[in-house]
Amino acid sequence: MSRFFETTLEQLKKAAKTMKLSPSVFTILEEPQRIVTAHIPVTMDNGTIQIFRGYRVQHNNARGPYKGGIRYHPDVNMEEVKALALLMTIKCAVVNLPLGGGKGGIEVDSHKLSQRELEALTRGYTRLMAPILGPKIDVPAPDVYTNAQIMAWIYDEYSKITGKDSPAVVTGKAVGKGGSLGRESATAQGGFYVLMEFIQKMKKNPKDMTVVIQGFGNAGSFIARMVHDAGFRLIAVSDSKGGLYCKGGIDPAIAYSCKRESHSVQNCEIAGIEYTKKGEGVCKRISNAELLELPCDILVLSALENQITASNAKNIRAHIILELANGPTDAEGDIILEKRGITVLPDILANAGGVTVSYFEWLQNLQKKQWTEKIVLAKLKKTMVEAFNEVYAMSRKYKIGLRQGALITALKRLEDTII
Ligand code: GLU
Repeated sequence: MSRFFETTLEQLKKAAKTMKLSPSVFTILEEPQRIVTAHIPVTMDNGTIQIFRGYRVQHNNARGPYKGGIRYHPDVNMEEVKALALLMTIKCAVVNLPLGGGKGGIEVDSHKLSQRELEALTRGYTRLMAPILGPKIDVPAPDVYTNAQIMAWIYDEYSKITGKDSPAVVTGKAVGKGGSLGRESATAQGGFYVLMEFIQKMKKNPKDMTVVIQGFGNAGSFIARMVHDAGFRLIAVSDSKGGLYCKGGIDPAIAYSCKRESHSVQNCEIAGIEYTKKGEGVCKRISNAELLELPCDILVLSALENQITASNAKNIRAHIILELANGPTDAEGDIILEKRGITVLPDILANAGGVTVSYFEWLQNLQKKQWTEKIVLAKLKKTMVEAFNEVYAMSRKYKIGLRQGALITALKRLEDTII
């Protein structure tokens, strides 16, 4: 049994102690306000009925409607969804959005479902959760293995149930269906702004820095292109099947098209960078565990939670860690990294770009307007840079790491609202 929720609470408790948070506020944040479990029947293509378990955890709505993604993954469980919902409450407060925190999940290996089965599952989940969703109540979004198509089905099903066109019930929709320009790349874009702000503070030049990326899904593939375009040298990437290390550098566009064709960054012959299938030459195949321990300047974590723990934190050779996933470093791993002087740009700040542009999408839907990409990016940058500087100042003030600085920034805002 994972201890994800418990260890997240431990980190929160530490921050609460440092900033002397009112105990009643901590008591409120310690448990989610509502948890709903659904058992969703789906008629499979072979005519049988299969039941899938899904959750929605509404952690806290003191600052606004519950907000947070829905993930489809075989390992989804209540403990995980509770932790992720708590992180959403904190994250929205770190970047000062008028939103609360929630999260959903379905225990499913979505790659094994046909499109029709996936649609039936999504619509079934929406029907069972509809009473607790709504543009002013709880607004889901994409997360691991969910996308704009799945959001479109939620929007459609919810609108049918309520008899009212309600695009603002969900974010992360395709642009043609009420989505925001810039939403798809927003998580990576926000993380990139935070990284650049930090690097400028450190007076470092991207041209002299190497980057390793774990995870090549939405966040990982977009940040790969961003760092490459900014002049960093991307030397390794991975996905759930394993990684590829190319000393001379990887062109992310080639890695992306390889992944699309052969389902893993590991499986492709990358033209132009002398990759050979046997792993000879400039590039070689490596495991995800090896990838995390490569010497590099920046390690981007954009896969799942609990990747850096007490067992590997002492072997990490990156100088900076950018957390685009939620909870990729556990509490013990975090303490070891801090002692070793490795800077962690924490998830609750670094991946908040996704929910920030979700908030912009929600506003555009409510106002029945479409902002230009230029406006979205300018507002995103402002939000991320301001949040980074506040968190940075907080960590200086209390002489603590950036994660604790971000937690305190959030707790102060939550305290002001709750009390
Ligand atoms: N799933 C994303 C996250 O963990 C986005 C949530 C949202 O946009 O509501 O932050």
